[in-house]
Amino acid sequence: MNRTRLGAAVCALTVACASRIAAEPRLARFEFSQAHMGTLFRIVLYAPDAGTARTASDVAFRRIAELDNAMSDYKPTSELMQLCARAGGPPVAVSEDLFRVLAAAQDLAERSDGAFDVTVGPVVRLWRRARRRHERPDPERLSKALELVGYQKLRLDPAARTVQLLKPGMLLDLGGIAKGYAADEALATLKRYGIESALVAGGGDIAVGSAPPGKAGWRIAIASPEPPGIANPKSKIQNLLLRDAAVSTSGDAEQHVEIGGVRYSHIVNPKTGVALTGRSSVTVVARNCTTSDGLATAVSVIGPERGLELIKDTPGAGALFVKETPEGIRSWEWDFSRLLQRPSSLSFLRSRRRS
Ligand code: ADP
Ligand code: MG
Repeated sequence: MNRTRLGAAVCALTVACASRIAAEPRLARFEFSQAHMGTLFRIVLYAPDAGTARTASDVAFRRIAELDNAMSDYKPTSELMQLCARAGGPPVAVSEDLFRVLAAAQDLAERSDGAFDVTVGPVVRLWRRARRRHERPDPERLSKALELVGYQKLRLDPAARTVQLLKPGMLLDLGGIAKGYAADEALATLKRYGIESALVAGGGDIAVGSAPPGKAGWRIAIASPEPPGIANPKSKIQNLLLRDAAVSTSGDAEQHVEIGGVRYSHIVNPKTGVALTGRSSVTVVARNCTTSDGLATAVSVIGPERGLELIKDTPGAGALFVKETPEGIRSWEWDFSRLLQRPSSLSFLRSRRRS
């Protein structure tokens, strides 16, 4: 290419870039929050104007409310509770959303050998009562409730999109996975409104889309390296830098009860019917929030060693497990440090490329 032609080419490229910049609207940051699913949902997004931001976030919140109405185990009118009312009967046709969440739950139940199990409803109910009364559930009632637990008693038929609960009295609880699904769906709703750069957070479950304009990713602070409430002089906040990903934290920080000096979590072991004890916190990063939410609960149940095997087998996932042990606070991680914010975005990108 001679000098003139090269000059013309560079010139054309410059014009092309300039016109692209001119065509791209300047995006501003907007933030909204609403209460759903027993927690506060927050949406942060970048949009060309306030009207677009408001409309898109309203539709996204409506989507979350719709999912809450379908999947709540607190609302007797929810699709989930209607399904449970027919436990012991023939297969029941369900909505696409409910089927998708149950299919994801069953997949994780199999992969975690039943540590994650949405049929834990009857046992969770007893522990909720125990939390209110500050006394352990009655052992006899607990063993009766356990007879209704087991993911093999929940049958899905993808072709007919039906669900069958094999035993009367079975109760499903989507508390360990529905918030993640809602965050994913809210993010997808925003995308349909042309909003690519957004974050949806529902309690400890966060889904993010493309990075904020001019940034390498969304900076998400996680308290580390000890479970909240435990004094540790080395305590520091770590920042995750994420895009097109999700992060969930499960722990006993918010929902727990102390009975006879023992601290019981709101997560139960479906094999024993006993609520988890001891302080721990599990943070899982995955490609979507349905996966990170479910995995954080599953890993809490099966513990760090087997838990991190499960993370390893999940494409794109990373995790940090922090636990109080008799020897002090210990932490385990799998593929987690690559997700932490680096001093500059350039080194972050380099480290991403290597992985
Ligand atoms: P959070 O609701 O605080 O975000 P999790 O995502 O870990 O925490 O979900 C905990 C909830 O999941 C419990 O409140 C209960 O409804 C449900 N649950 C408890 N134990 C299990 C389990 N072993 N498998 C599946 N769901 C569970
Ligand atoms: Mg969870």
